[in-house]
Amino acid sequence: MTAADTSPLGSRPGTYILVLETRKAAVIPVGRLGSLRACPGFYVYAGSAFGPGGVGARCARHLRLVKPLHWHIDYLRSRSRILEIWFTYDAIRREHLWASILGRSPGAGVPLRGFGASDCTCPTHLFHFAARPSFLGFRRRVRRICRAHGTISRTRGEVNAGEREAVAGLRKLNAPLPRYG
Ligand SMILES: [Zn+2]
Repeated sequence: MTAADTSPLGSRPGTYILVLETRKAAVIPVGRLGSLRACPGFYVYAGSAFGPGGVGARCARHLRLVKPLHWHIDYLRSRSRILEIWFTYDAIRREHLWASILGRSPGAGVPLRGFGASDCTCPTHLFHFAARPSFLGFRRRVRRICRAHGTISRTRGEVNAGEREAVAGLRKLNAPLPRYG
């Protein structure tokens, strides 16, 4: 990842992709849509955030684990790790274009029809890949189809599991000692 590819998420509206990793097979209930039979690998979800706080606020919500489960993606997110976020501040809502490009990418599978697509005619906004999907490959495909598209950048998702444990351990060490008696 080069410096030009990375950018902190701001409060501007735009379209984003979450690249998630699932390590264990699991059957994940997804609200009224049914169950997602998750298998180890990578899940890629396309969404957009044109409300208050834009892409930054929406992705901060996706990163939080403790929250009411509202969107389809919340159910999968609670059982997986966000590796990367790809995003654009293009003024046009690009999530449906992105979903269709993802669906035609090599190795794309449709784990559950209708996922994230309650309000549109896309078959799904979630795709499964056995191998980690390529940001540069995706950006190339978008540019080939849509020359007027705004810049697409990416940023890191969660810290890795080892780092997370280390941070949790430090928090425990720094916590005040329990008082007895
Ligand atoms: Zn759609």
